Amino acid sequence: MAHTPATHVLGLRCRECGREYDVAPVYTCEWCFGPLEVAYDYEAIAASVSRESIAAGPLSLWRYGPLLPVEFDRAVDLGTGFTPLVKADRLAAELGLRDVWIKNDTRNPTNSFKDRVVSIALSKALEFGFKVAACASTGNLANSVAAHAARAGLRSYVFIPSNLEQGKIVTTAVYGGKVVAISGNYDDVNRLCAELAGVYEWAFVNVNMRPFYAEGSKTLAFETAEQLGWETPDHIVVPVASGSLLTKIHKGFDELYKVGLLDSRPAVRVSGAQALGCSPVAQAYLDNADTIRPVKPDTIAKSLAIGNPADGYFALDVVRASGGGMAAVSDGEIVEGMRLLARTEGIFAETAGGVTVATLRKLAADGVIRPDERVVVYITGHGLKTLEAVSPTCGPTATIAPTLDAFHEAFDIEESS
Ligand SMILES: [Zn+2]
Repeated sequence: MAHTPATHVLGLRCRECGREYDVAPVYTCEWCFGPLEVAYDYEAIAASVSRESIAAGPLSLWRYGPLLPVEFDRAVDLGTGFTPLVKADRLAAELGLRDVWIKNDTRNPTNSFKDRVVSIALSKALEFGFKVAACASTGNLANSVAAHAARAGLRSYVFIPSNLEQGKIVTTAVYGGKVVAISGNYDDVNRLCAELAGVYEWAFVNVNMRPFYAEGSKTLAFETAEQLGWETPDHIVVPVASGSLLTKIHKGFDELYKVGLLDSRPAVRVSGAQALGCSPVAQAYLDNADTIRPVKPDTIAKSLAIGNPADGYFALDVVRASGGGMAAVSDGEIVEGMRLLARTEGIFAETAGGVTVATLRKLAADGVIRPDERVVVYITGHGLKTLEAVSPTCGPTATIAPTLDAFHEAFDIEESS
C-alpha cells in the first residue's frame, strides 16, 4: 500500500525496544510485540514553527500541523480542536483551590476529545489509500469515526458493546455507517477488532492506525500551553481509559519544549482519574504495585470502562515520575462531580467528566493538589451523551398550574429582584 511520509516524521519506533519501522499502517513491534509510536525530526520541526506561525493558523488542531504525523492537504476536517480553556473560579473556591482551569473538549464537532485522534487517524487513512474506517469503541470514538468517515467519503464499521448509552448509539448511527453492537464488554469488542484487522484491509483507527491516532491527543497539551500564554500548568487532571490520553498530553508538553515553543522545561504534575468500577491503573497506583491487574468493568462511566488498558503502564509511569496522584471514585461521586461542574461553571460533562471532577475534589481534599498550583482539568465529553446518569436527579423544580397563586405557593420568594 502506497504511503507518503509526512514532512517531519522519521518513521515509527517501538516504545519498548526502540527498533525503527517505516511509516505504514502497523502498530506492534515484530521483535518484542511492543507498541509502535511516531518518531519525529524535532530539529526540522523547530525550524518550521514559531508562536507567530501557529497564531496565524486555523482555529482548530490543524494550527499545529508541523507537530502532527499527517500531510496537511489530506486532512479530514470537521473543525476539531482549539476548544475553550476557561478559568473556573467558582469550582476552585468550592474545593479550596485558587487557580483552576477547565479545558472544555465537549466543544468538539461530535462533542468529545475523540475528534482529535480521529481527524488525525482518518487523514492518515486517506494517505494510505484505505476505503473503510473502523474502530472498537466505548461510544465517543464511535460517534467521531462515523462522522469523520462520512465527511471523508469513507465507509465505516463501528464496533461497540451492546449495553452502551442510547445517546451514543443514535449519535453514531445517524451518520449512516454500519454500527455493530457486540454482546460483551469493551475488551471483548477490542479483541474482535484486532482479529478483524488481520482479515480485512480496513483502517482500524485504534488498532492498525493507533500510532497516528494516538498523536492527536497531544494537541490538548499544545492548546493548553498556547492558551496559557505559552506556559504550562503546574498540575493536570486527566481521565484514564486506555491511558493513552494521559501519556500523550504529557508528551505534548515535552515536545513543545523540544521544538523551542516553551522557554523552560515543563514540570507538570500529572494526575489520573478512574471510576471505582473500573480502576485497574488507579488501583495499582494506590497499592504501590508494579502490576496492573485487568478487571471486569462495572461503572456508569462507560467511556472509561476499559478493564485491560493498553497504555496503562505508560500512564502509571507518567503519574509516578511527575509526582501526580490517582484516585478511583464511586458512581455516586461521579454524578456529584457532574452536577458540581454544571452548578459552578455552567459546563455539562458526561460521566467521564464527573470522574475527573470527583478526582480533582478528592486529590484537593487529600492535599495532593495544592492551592498554590495552577491546575488544568480535562473535560473530555458532553453530558448529553450520558443523560441516564443524571436524569433521575434532574427534573423540574416544581410542576404547577399557570397562575401567580400556584407559583407563589410553590416558591417562597422574599425579594422581587
Ligand atoms: Zn520492540
